[in-house]
Amino acid sequence: MDLFEYQARDMFAAHGVPVLDAVVATTPEEARAGAEAIGGGTVVVKAQVKTGGRGKAGGVKLAHSPEEAAAKAGEILGMDIKGHTVHRVMVAQGAKIAEEYYFSVLLDRANRTYLAMASKEGGMEIEQLAVERPDALAKIPVDAITGIDAAKAAEIVDAAGFADDVKAAVADVIVKLWGVFQAEDATLVEVNPLVKTEDGAIIALDGKVTLDGNAGFRHPDHAALEDVAAADPLEQAAKEKGLNYVKLDGEVGIIGNGAGLVMSTLDVVAYAGEEFGGVKPANFLDIGGGASAEVMANGLEIILGDVQVKSVFVNVFGGITACDAVANGILQAFKILEENGTPVTKPLVVRLDGNNAELGQEILDDFAKTLPAGAITREDTMDGAARAAAELAAGGQGQGA
Ligand code: GDP
Ligand code: MN
Repeated sequence: MDLFEYQARDMFAAHGVPVLDAVVATTPEEARAGAEAIGGGTVVVKAQVKTGGRGKAGGVKLAHSPEEAAAKAGEILGMDIKGHTVHRVMVAQGAKIAEEYYFSVLLDRANRTYLAMASKEGGMEIEQLAVERPDALAKIPVDAITGIDAAKAAEIVDAAGFADDVKAAVADVIVKLWGVFQAEDATLVEVNPLVKTEDGAIIALDGKVTLDGNAGFRHPDHAALEDVAAADPLEQAAKEKGLNYVKLDGEVGIIGNGAGLVMSTLDVVAYAGEEFGGVKPANFLDIGGGASAEVMANGLEIILGDVQVKSVFVNVFGGITACDAVANGILQAFKILEENGTPVTKPLVVRLDGNNAELGQEILDDFAKTLPAGAITREDTMDGAARAAAELAAGGQGQGA
C-alpha cells in the first residue's frame, strides 16, 4: 500500500524524522485556517495524490498569506495530475531551501537485499538522474539484520559525497528513516527532496512510503491509512468477505479453487476468447480449498455485481472438498442469492473434476433441469468450458471458424 505524502509525513514525525508543521485541507477555507494555524507566514500548498512530479504539474505552490493559501488550494483542488484527481492538499510551513538531496531505502527483490540510495543532487526526478548521471546516485546494499546504524549511515553519506558540514546531520536523519522502514514494515521509504535549509537544518520535505501488506497483521493501525474511497468497490466488497479477488477488464467471470488453477483458467479463457472477438476474463477469484456454499455464494455475488460480466466460468478441481460438496455448494449459492434478492441471472459454465467428480456432475445436472435452459452448462474439459463461457459472453456470436 502506498501512502499519501501527508501520511508519510505523520509517520516520519512519529519516528523522529525532522519534518515541517502541516495540516490537510479539502477546501480553500480549510487551507486558509490551516495556514493561519501554522503561523500565518509562508506556506507551501501541495496536492495529495499518489504520483510523483506534482511540482512540475503545478500541484505544489508557495503562498505568502492565509488568503493566498486559500487561493492556491482553490487552484490545486480538483486538478488532474497524471490521471489522479486532487481531493486534498497539504498546507505545510514553507522551507527556505539551500540544497536539495535525495534518499531512499527499498526492498531490492532482484538482489534479495535492501538497498539504500542517496544523492546530494535531489529534487529532480530520480529516474532521470539515475540514467543521465548514474555516478551522482550512490547505491549501497543494506543487510536486513544489521540495517542502517550510525556506521552504515556514515558509509552511505560518504559514498554519496555529501559535504563535510552536513554529513553528520544527514547520517542522523538516514538512521531515523531506516527506523521508519523497519518499524513500519515498509518496502520503500523515499525522501525527495531531503533539504538543507538556509539555517542549516536537515528536513524531509517530501515523503513516499510503501507499506508491506503482508505485514499488515502486526500493524492494526495501518488499516486506517487505506484510501477506501479510491479502492475498486468490488475489490473492497470482496476484501470485506475475505475473498481473494482481483478485478480485470473482461467479460467472463472466473471462480476457481487454488491460485494456480485460477491463473491457468485466465489464460485458457483469454485464448478461447480470441475466437469470439477478444472476450477476456473479468476477474481473478480463488475460493481456496474449502469451497463451502457460503464462499461460493459470496464469490458469485461479487462476480455478478460486475456489470461487465456476461458469463461465469466455475472451474473446480475437487480435492479435500470433493466435487459433490462443491456441486451442493453451487446449489446452495443459488438459493442464498435468490433469498438475498440478487438471483443468478447470468449463464454459468461449470467444470468439475477430481474427487467424486461423477457424483458432483450428477447433482449439478439434476439441479440444472430445474432452471431455465442454459442457466448452467456443464463441460467435462477446461478447454471446452472456457470456449463455452467465451461464446456465451460474446452472445453466442462466434466470429471465427
Ligand atoms: P513532487 O514534485 O511531487 O516530488 O513534490 P515535492 O514535494 O518534492 O515538491 C517539488 C519541489 O517543490 C521541491 O523539490 C522543492 O523545490 C519545491 N518545494 C517543496 N516544498 C517547498 C517549500 O517549503 N519551500 C520552497 N521554497 N520550495 C518547496
Ligand atoms: Mn518530491
